Amino acid sequence: MPRIAYVDGRYVPHDSATVHIEDRGFQFADGVYEVVTVVNGRLADEEGHLARLARSLDELRIAWPVTPQTLKMIMRQMVVRNRMADALLYIQITRGRAPRDFKFPAKAAPTLVLTCRRTKFQSPRQLADGVPVVTIPDIRWLRRDIKSVSLLPQVLGKQQAVEKGAFEAWQIDPDGTVTEGCSSNAWIVTEAGALVTRPASSLILNGITRQSLIRLAAGLGIPFEERAFTLDEAYRAKEAFISSASTFVLPVTSIDGKPVGNGKPGPLGRQLRQAYMNHVGTPDPVPLPAENA
Ligand code: PMP
Repeated sequence: MPRIAYVDGRYVPHDSATVHIEDRGFQFADGVYEVVTVVNGRLADEEGHLARLARSLDELRIAWPVTPQTLKMIMRQMVVRNRMADALLYIQITRGRAPRDFKFPAKAAPTLVLTCRRTKFQSPRQLADGVPVVTIPDIRWLRRDIKSVSLLPQVLGKQQAVEKGAFEAWQIDPDGTVTEGCSSNAWIVTEAGALVTRPASSLILNGITRQSLIRLAAGLGIPFEERAFTLDEAYRAKEAFISSASTFVLPVTSIDGKPVGNGKPGPLGRQLRQAYMNHVGTPDPVPLPAENA
């Protein structure tokens, strides 16, 4: 079964899928993207991802290449044509192809690309042990709310994380607060037991998983504070985790080499992961600890 990609109206073999060298995505990173996770053949949080895509396009004044309804159809076609039950569906829209010139081209049709990649999600080991994160200065621009394909700071950040044996790098603003991971939102559970994540603003990407988790936490009656937290507070947290479309909720058990709490995944993160997996239609195989069962 060859992998299939979608490029501007055509379903093509993944290996030979291309866009033009003067596409503004290639030249200027002048484009936006979304990653929608396919769990058991179902698109997780699809509406949220499409709403954020609409917002990103609007903020950058890039036109929809197709209607949202058509995009939904293409997304489904991609899952079916690639015959993938558990996958990451990648959608990218750029301002299109035009002679290289910084200002917006007078006329350029936006480029639409979709790819689909099989995924296994997190290993039982990662869920049982949690993952390490390191911290780095946040060197990104100030419109982090736009899901732009301009990801160089995150590329460098992730590489640093990997070189230090970590899974993710949490980015720190000059005021000492944690903004977010390179490709995930950051959460802690304070010493007092409150769940904390940073409010949506132009300083972070408002994760779709994050938004779902906030709703789920409210439904579960979990004490929640939407506020910035410092790295110092994170070091003292009882629990920590990251959220994203591809990791759902993944426990963080060390920050900069210091164990978080007792160094093991905590009950609140586990409870939220379970709730999220139920929300996307797949109960997690990881059992709840006795105190939450
Ligand atoms: N922050 C950043 C910087 C990200 O790249 C991502 C993942 N794309 C997230 C947060 C998490 O967002 P989501 O839950 O929508 O995947």
